[in-house]
Amino acid sequence: MSNVRGNDTLAKVVALCKRRGFVFQSSEIYDGINGFWDYGPYGVTLRRSVEQLWWKHMVEDRDNVVGLDSTIICNPRVWKASGHLDQFSDLMTDCLDCRRRFRVDQMEDPGTCPECGSKQMTEPREFNLMMKTFVGPVFDEEHAAYLRAETCQPIFVDFDQVRIASRQKLPFGIAQTGKAFRNEINPRFFTFRSREFVQMEMEFFCRADEAMAWYDYWKAERWSFYRDLLRFPEETLKIHEHEKLAHYAQAALDIEYAFPFGWGEIEGIHHRGTWDMGRHGEFSGRDLSYFDQEHNERFLPTVVETSCGLDRICLALLCRGYREDMAATQKEGRDEDVRVLLSLPPLVSPVQVAVLPLVKKLGETAAGLFRDLRRRWRTEYDEGGSIGKRYRRQDEIGTPFCVTVDYESLEDRAVTVRHRDSMTQDRVGMDALVGYLAERLV
Ligand code: ATP
Repeated sequence: MSNVRGNDTLAKVVALCKRRGFVFQSSEIYDGINGFWDYGPYGVTLRRSVEQLWWKHMVEDRDNVVGLDSTIICNPRVWKASGHLDQFSDLMTDCLDCRRRFRVDQMEDPGTCPECGSKQMTEPREFNLMMKTFVGPVFDEEHAAYLRAETCQPIFVDFDQVRIASRQKLPFGIAQTGKAFRNEINPRFFTFRSREFVQMEMEFFCRADEAMAWYDYWKAERWSFYRDLLRFPEETLKIHEHEKLAHYAQAALDIEYAFPFGWGEIEGIHHRGTWDMGRHGEFSGRDLSYFDQEHNERFLPTVVETSCGLDRICLALLCRGYREDMAATQKEGRDEDVRVLLSLPPLVSPVQVAVLPLVKKLGETAAGLFRDLRRRWRTEYDEGGSIGKRYRRQDEIGTPFCVTVDYESLEDRAVTVRHRDSMTQDRVGMDALVGYLAERLV
């Protein structure tokens, strides 16, 4: 998953994220901690906007999916039942020369170090990915607990409570977004493989004989989320059908995005059969079966899952949006200069509209517009520095529209709207501005 041009783009995205406060290393003043990232003001807004879009698309716009917000720490038996404590591990090998550690399934030749070419590799060993902690005053095995490695297990565990409270009948889904933790051996590619990340998962419970149709349905819905809502061009996405399936699964696929470092999974869609409900029924000793009144039958629900990583989607948006072109400049001795822009979809741009008075004196009119626009959209007001510099800053943080108030505005009651991607400008009457933006901020 690497090539020079690609990694160059990734390096530029990483630099932009730090410079503009999207994403930066956690605890940087202490030299950071590998695999953990903080989202600054623009990053957190981007991440929340994508999460809200997902929530609306998956929960609020549907009658047959409801939400859940479970705890990060559960009874450890949950992870025994799910198989995470016994099986959630990667086979790793260490290079005795350069001391790097690698996942065996990602190596072309597990006998040769991909970093330094040494043949001095250790025998592959299992490493469990669950993060461990202790609950209560005594730090012993009896009090050991784990940070959840995925958000879906509590959904299975809470199935009956949620079903009864929400009066849902099969088929229906339960969705949850939140933090997941994995002690990844090789965190890399910026936020792509982190140790703390956000998942957005939906478990859809249905009859076994309908599950394949639901699997196809969710595959189409999720594809449309990326193509139509997040505006990823189809050629940057691909479906990777799994040939090797988990023993309980009937079908599984990944939706992958063309990252600068290669294709990478952003979402998995899985037909999980009755495995999860069966295991939690068995380990808890509770009857998790469902009584289908229409068919007068009792059975364990079959599960179709959609599972995506919010950080990976944001990274895909940042990589996709990063562009450089040439634009006019006021820099001495130059007519043109490289312009960096983030072409983010307007729905998720951290700032959707920027209001910029040409000079401070026009601040009163501009501030009035700003107050009106911010009731509708994420709006920023900026009156410092040359207008050219202010445009560049908004381009870099991905603001699709800049509204400039100039001297003429006082006479013609109109403003200039500048488009981020094309840099074209429209003169729009102040009275018509909300309608103009509403048509385009979709
Ligand atoms: P991978 O093979 O890349 O490790 P996975 O198959 O283990 O991923 P799942 O367990 O299916 O991933 O998790 C669902 C989603 O959660 C993934 O599609 C991804 O978007 C996200 N995800 C998983 N692990 C990480 C991680 N370490 N950092 C960021 N996001 C992750």
